[in-house]
Amino acid sequence: MNPEEKDTDCIFCKIASGEIPSALLYEDEDVVVFPDINPLTPVHLLVIPRKHITSLADMADEDTPIVGKMTRVANQVAREQGISENGYRLTINSGADAGQVVFHLHMHLMGGRHLAWKH
Ligand code: AMP
Ligand code: ZN
Repeated sequence: MNPEEKDTDCIFCKIASGEIPSALLYEDEDVVVFPDINPLTPVHLLVIPRKHITSLADMADEDTPIVGKMTRVANQVAREQGISENGYRLTINSGADAGQVVFHLHMHLMGGRHLAWKH
């Protein structure tokens, strides 16, 4: 990968590169899936692009295929985790009001129990 596509201080870049060990559930040349360190649901995984994209709001048009692939991978991992039939949620927090704290684009894949929706 082009070095400009990584941020040396980014924790998720370090997980994607293996510099910080994590129990990866899926990886390919574009996408990595690993457990959220602070799970809010019985299944709580993070789906990230290897490319360092800071947030949904900052994605470029050229990133559209990778976000589509993240969704496909999330669906596959949800099936493997046995939560596909009962249901699951994919969430992308973008920016401060949404509570984004890690500025490397990620999807939360959550399931394994009924998830409240209204806040
Ligand atoms: P967000 O609020 O959408 O930016 O979510 C960031 C998520 O990353 C939180 O749910 C954290 O629990 C999770 N997280 C932070 N550091 C790590 C880490 N080293 N490994 C796995 N998950 C992490
Ligand atoms: Zn990063």
